[in-house]
Amino acid sequence: MSVKESFADLVIIGSGPAGQNAAMQASKLGKSAIIIDQHSSPGGGCLFSGTIPSKSLREAILTLTDFYKKNFYGKQEVPKEDISINDLNYCLNQVWEHQTNHFKEIFDRNNITYLQGIAHFESEKLVAVVSAEGQLLHMIHADYILIATGSVPRNPKNVPFDNECVLDSTRLLKLDRVPKTMVVLGGGTIGAEYASFFAALGTKVTVIDKRKRMLSMVDSEISFHFQQALKDLNVTFLGEREFCSIEKRDHGVSVNFTNHPSVEAEVLLYSLGRRAAVDLLHIDKIGISLDARGYVPVNALFQTIVPNIYAVGDVIGGPCLASTSMEQGRLAARHAFGADTHHFPTLYPVGIYTIPEISSCGYNEDELNHLGFKYEVGRALFSEIARNIISGKDSGMFKILFHRDTLEILGVHIIGRQATEMIHIGQVAMDHKAKIDYFIDQVFNYPTYAEGYRIAALNGFNKIKHKN
Ligand SMILES: Cc1cc2nc3c(=O)[nH]c(=O)nc-3n(C[C@H](O)[C@H](O)[C@H](O)COP(=O)(O)OP(=O)(O)OC[C@H]3O[C@@H](n4cnc5c(N)ncnc54)[C@H](O)[C@@H]3O)c2cc1C
Repeated sequence: MSVKESFADLVIIGSGPAGQNAAMQASKLGKSAIIIDQHSSPGGGCLFSGTIPSKSLREAILTLTDFYKKNFYGKQEVPKEDISINDLNYCLNQVWEHQTNHFKEIFDRNNITYLQGIAHFESEKLVAVVSAEGQLLHMIHADYILIATGSVPRNPKNVPFDNECVLDSTRLLKLDRVPKTMVVLGGGTIGAEYASFFAALGTKVTVIDKRKRMLSMVDSEISFHFQQALKDLNVTFLGEREFCSIEKRDHGVSVNFTNHPSVEAEVLLYSLGRRAAVDLLHIDKIGISLDARGYVPVNALFQTIVPNIYAVGDVIGGPCLASTSMEQGRLAARHAFGADTHHFPTLYPVGIYTIPEISSCGYNEDELNHLGFKYEVGRALFSEIARNIISGKDSGMFKILFHRDTLEILGVHIIGRQATEMIHIGQVAMDHKAKIDYFIDQVFNYPTYAEGYRIAALNGFNKIKHKN
């Protein structure tokens, strides 16, 4: 087979949210873009192993278990043993089909060329594309190159991964059954999400973490609330424990400790972090080396040490979200082609799609204490929100942190149904430097979850009024 040679204004390696948005932006600026990915269809890790499959599974689990009906119709709950992995995959496959078609359509409409293959650098302006078998397929010359190769699970060699019982978040998607027992190593976002999903399906889940609490980056009151909710789902949390070995057994896996009894389960989900996906890129050839955390270093405009080569998304490190990756891709392409950018976001929401879901924006209480802010807290429990009572009486809370003197909103934290949607009201308010009384002066639809903002604002504002 002959090697093809092409030119593009922008070559993008990786077709996840970061790469897609960069390609779209380049195209809208009248530039040619070629996007390379090792998968046969565009979408990246986000579509095939990260955000989209995990959120599709969550939605399928909530629907198939009639999860939100349980408070009203508890006795008529769908028997969980009737839900098979095929039922869950049925929903996921439909989402995959729709999304891959959607990406192909928008690439076609915007003249974005999609190439399947593994890309690596030959020089600062030349990228080679090889097949999975190592055959050279394509050489592409480009003025600008964008690294958007994402991240992969950080899997140590001494853990015996397979596709049956010792799994990471990618392998988990190949599971052919709903396990009866599961141990989750790591109580961060991915571990917490999957622990709650499987617990909602009826799996007996144990989460193990070396930290005292799960979701240690979340406001501690919110993470405490979350752990209570997990207890209701029958999840066991073992904190302050570091495993010494993982062994496969006849019918599952055993996690061993030096000072504690082993924990056995049918399936293990190992979710102790991710790392930049740069193994196949040959970045050393162009003088790029990773920073101390193992990510590609960039400046505020997403340029690497080589000015015509940009890097965005998970490959540059935190916050490692699809949402922020998209925006970074768009901004990098704008900068490369000299388009003005009016706004570099500093405030972004974090969504954790656990059951119950969590979302936050701005400072949390631990950070405010650490920084020595004078702040006050307004809270609204979900039990005070009429819409929540109508919808199934879930537990949850709104928490608004604001400056005690200036009344400026400093952070919003929500746990409970619709949290990842509701957060945007707080985000917009904060972006406009709103004060806590803003939510008191506004009229919101009733009954809605958004009413929580008003209740929390009144709760917080009254504390200040009484103090002054
Ligand atoms: C289980 C899980 C759940 C998540 N849930 C959420 C969520 O709910 N919300 C959220 O905002 N974020 C979530 N994330 C994070 C989100 O998926 C990532 O932040 C996002 O996918 C990063 O986008 P990206 O474009 O940087 O890279 P990716 O989406 O990872 O895409 C990178 C692509 O580059 C390809 N690639 C790598 N190297 C090469 C090469 N040399 N040649 C060709 N192709 C290559 C990869 O195969 C991949 O297809 C989740 C992640 C995981 C793992």
